[in-house]
Amino acid sequence: MSSGLKILELTFDELRKVLHARYGKGIYHARAVYREVFQNGIQDLKNTADFSNSRNFARVITSDLEINAGELIETKKENGTTKFITRLQDGHEIESVVIPMATHNTICVSSQVGCRFGCKFCQTGQMGFSRNLTTEEIIGQVYSAKFKLNLTARNVVFMGMGEPFDNFDNVIQAVRVLNDQRGFNVALRYITISTVGEISAIQKLASLGMKRLRLSISLNASNDHVRARIMPSQRISSMRNLQHALIDYSFSEKETFFITYILIQNINDTFEDAIELAEYVKPIPSKINIIPYNPRSASPFESPSEEKVLQFCNWLAECGVFVRKRNPKGQDVMAACGQLGKIKES
Ligand code: SF4
Repeated sequence: MSSGLKILELTFDELRKVLHARYGKGIYHARAVYREVFQNGIQDLKNTADFSNSRNFARVITSDLEINAGELIETKKENGTTKFITRLQDGHEIESVVIPMATHNTICVSSQVGCRFGCKFCQTGQMGFSRNLTTEEIIGQVYSAKFKLNLTARNVVFMGMGEPFDNFDNVIQAVRVLNDQRGFNVALRYITISTVGEISAIQKLASLGMKRLRLSISLNASNDHVRARIMPSQRISSMRNLQHALIDYSFSEKETFFITYILIQNINDTFEDAIELAEYVKPIPSKINIIPYNPRSASPFESPSEEKVLQFCNWLAECGVFVRKRNPKGQDVMAACGQLGKIKES
């Protein structure tokens, strides 16, 4: 039998079918294989108790299993936060972050190498786009954190490199694998996809009925004019259409959104911006996270003062909007999707 059983891409049910079709094995072996890989990080099944009566199969499945989580080439720790860089099989590098919260860890994963949206405030956006990650490469980040760095995360957020909905199918399959109770067992309410909010992807997600999967919308503007200035991609839809899509989604999924708003000095920080933003979000069941801009390398923008950030939050709160100020450092290092990534030296 040829090798190439990429188990990190499979839900338990999918593995069960593959084991049956390939080897004629049933649910007992499927359970054992899935548990050893996802819960114990064991790839060599030859000496495990579940296979004491089927050593031959253990040898075959061990040689057929492929786990390509990539090579961990760098790990940096700062104030309890761990950022790690993975080199993929084709040499591309991606970044992930494990952030300690009060009661659990959150892992921020990448979904693409680079990003084609080119948002002006975003580090990843300056890298250009190389390619989508496979489901295996997305799950590999959680696998590496758990079994190579000993960092188990309760929450998974797609806020690393890339626009997750631009890699819709692989990201959604990764969500299914993460959510599988026999594997990593991450509840949907603990998985957040951060997106610029492509309408067609929001509608497609609604049709999948993944109730309780969290969406965080990287909005960053109170009107299309400002949004186009800092998020110039032609693929960014109008804010009015986005608003309608979010309202429709919230009706069908009964979900509350996070709206992220990176506050940038002299770009989107006026009283008029706050009033317009409050009006915009009122019909959307949502909570706004205000994140003071943290300048990327060679940034054309500057951070707002602490006073300005608090003032902007107060203006929103006075309009009756649920608003929180998030600190861009430490545990709130994740801002919008894609604050990670290295820009190639020219
Ligand atoms: S903010 Fe998100 S969509 Fe925009 S460039 Fe960065 S990763 Fe891409």
